Amino acid sequence: MSPVSRAGAVLEIDLGAIVANWRLLVQIAAPAECAAVVKANAYGLGVAPVATALAAAGCRLFFVATLDEGIALRRALGAAAEIAVFNGPLPGTAAEFAAHALVPVLNDPGQIAKWAEAAGPHPAMLHVDTGMARLGLSAREFAALVEAPPRIRWRLVMSHLACADQPAAVLNAAQRARFAAAAARLPEIAASLAASSGIFLGPSYHLDLVRPGAALYGVNPQPGCPNPMRQVVRLSARILQVRQIDRGETVGYGAAHVMAAPGRVATAAVGYADGWLRSLSRRGGGTIAGTRVPLIGRVSMDLVTFDVSAIPEELARPGVMIELLGTGYGVDDAAADAGTIGYEILTALGARYHRVYRPPDPPQ
Ligand SMILES: *Cc1c(COP(=O)(O)O)cnc(C)c1O
Repeated sequence: MSPVSRAGAVLEIDLGAIVANWRLLVQIAAPAECAAVVKANAYGLGVAPVATALAAAGCRLFFVATLDEGIALRRALGAAAEIAVFNGPLPGTAAEFAAHALVPVLNDPGQIAKWAEAAGPHPAMLHVDTGMARLGLSAREFAALVEAPPRIRWRLVMSHLACADQPAAVLNAAQRARFAAAAARLPEIAASLAASSGIFLGPSYHLDLVRPGAALYGVNPQPGCPNPMRQVVRLSARILQVRQIDRGETVGYGAAHVMAAPGRVATAAVGYADGWLRSLSRRGGGTIAGTRVPLIGRVSMDLVTFDVSAIPEELARPGVMIELLGTGYGVDDAAADAGTIGYEILTALGARYHRVYRPPDPPQ
């Protein structure tokens, strides 16, 4: 039996849509360069196929979060791509960065001093903090660096916006001004400020290079506005069993759902162990033949129950797939129902799904 027909749940990933999303961001950000952020296994979608498709489309710079992610990506992409690592080197890892030609983002004076000592001729990126207080040099540390420049070949100077998904937030312009002042002290070095949402704040945020992640994978970079990105994932789970239930009977753990009327309940092969979050209990839903069916009761580890009373019996029977993510209900919709953000829905997508990659259209 084929892996798809025996799979409990199938995750389809449209590499063509990811490439189309990257091309749209390239257009919007031009003449700035457009990198691709593929940390966390390309936001859960599979770093090797995603990065390979983007590299074939012309993307030359990739960002990951950790050294191990960088080594895995180097293996997938070969020598040509440029790979940068946001978290920078932990003590004692400079030689491995250099050996795999990984460009670290240096986030504090300690990382900078060690890199200058151990790997000075290998390029690095400089992160200055302008309002996240997470990683990056403080204003004072940056001033000290400009006073006494370390012997490092800087590839890029970057900062990260805290509120880019809220265009009206005053911190956006403040961060841009702080970063412009810092970048002006290093005029020879390319500068980068915007991730997905920052690209949509306008050209004054694009500088020399933009670093989108989530938008590549279909997350709306402008919450509350129509989504300009193409939907990338489709997720469906197979119905294992359908049962007739009387009024007053309960469904699932905690007897959390009480049937208000007699009806039919379908149990499908997906659960929180697959990243179908338990917070979707009683809130989420699925689609069968174009009709929404409510998720009832609690999401359990491997199973979820839906009220399929409104669906003709021949359409809601064991073996049929219920669509969980698709064109009508995407990652941002699931995020709203789960009380989270699309980023978390994507990165939670589980290892148990049978994954199908739809290749990009061949170049004309
Ligand atoms: C994750 C990350 C990005 C990408 O952010 P998205 O919002 O997913 O586009 C860019 N820059 C830094 C520093 C990041 O950590």
